[in-house]
Amino acid sequence: MKPLVDPGPGQVRIRVEASGVCHSDAGTVEGSFPISWPRVPGHEVVGRIDALGAGVQGWAVGQRVGVGFLGGSCGYCELCRNGDLVNCRNQEFTGIHSDGGYAEVMIAKATGLVHIPDDLSSADAAPLLCAGLTTFNALRNAPAKAGDLVAVLGIGGLGHLAVQYARHMGFEVAAIARGSNTAELAKKLGAHHYIDSATTDPATALQALGGAKVIVITASGGKTITETFKGLRPGGVSIDLGVGPEPIEVASVDLIFGERKVAGSLTGNPATADATLRFSALSGVSAMIETVPLEEAPFAYAKMMTGKAHFRMVLVTKNGSGDAGQPK
Ligand SMILES: [Zn+2]
Ligand SMILES: [Zn+2]
Repeated sequence: MKPLVDPGPGQVRIRVEASGVCHSDAGTVEGSFPISWPRVPGHEVVGRIDALGAGVQGWAVGQRVGVGFLGGSCGYCELCRNGDLVNCRNQEFTGIHSDGGYAEVMIAKATGLVHIPDDLSSADAAPLLCAGLTTFNALRNAPAKAGDLVAVLGIGGLGHLAVQYARHMGFEVAAIARGSNTAELAKKLGAHHYIDSATTDPATALQALGGAKVIVITASGGKTITETFKGLRPGGVSIDLGVGPEPIEVASVDLIFGERKVAGSLTGNPATADATLRFSALSGVSAMIETVPLEEAPFAYAKMMTGKAHFRMVLVTKNGSGDAGQPK
């Protein structure tokens, strides 16, 4: 048990109700980021504020809030002052630099907080704070317009949300995954086309559909970007959301002739997180989740890491309204 501490200046204390289990939690558990242990993982956190630190404005005790991967911008660095809160030079990562949400209580920086709409349960809202925001933000800021072909590579924790967002944003949606058994699910999530990359060359299949304006890569980057890059139409962009050790190789001829791009995208700012949750509630986009009690965090983490979660594990505490142990 950790002692209950008061929030410092600019911080709030949160009674955690739900915490999603994300693949990036491996950064905390396995130490793939520079980290000093012990450190509590969890950066898809929903709970109620129970104490405000000095100087916190705009948030109230009792209010339900969310905390994502980005722990909160500083407000004074040159990137913040230029409006780029995501790339703030003093940005801390939740669960890496500070304790995260696999807990009853957590301390969070007020500048990173997200509004939770009343019509989303805490367990339903949690995965939208990282998996949801990451995919929504990438699609929302992509150059595609309604009716353009958008491809989503990988139908997992991120991909199953990306397909739904892309459909509700008005794109023609192609889902790409390995194997025929994902086809039905992809269609159910809103994909117009399903490309089985085990039997079909995804780039050729995308070109047969006219070429993708955007390809959202939700599986870990590297080869998957190389394999699909020729599926972009001229002016198209391949957006990498999956961190992996492999380098990304694309032929310069494919970059230059057609002016295609490779880009990375890092979650999103708190206002975009607000929009992610509102858009999800309005359009009925939701993560497929399995809730388990906080005490079973090691089980949930292991299930996620072995790829057996369909698609998001969510830890719920006794503080909240979640249905512990009821898979849905
Ligand atoms: Zn995450
Ligand atoms: Zn800053």
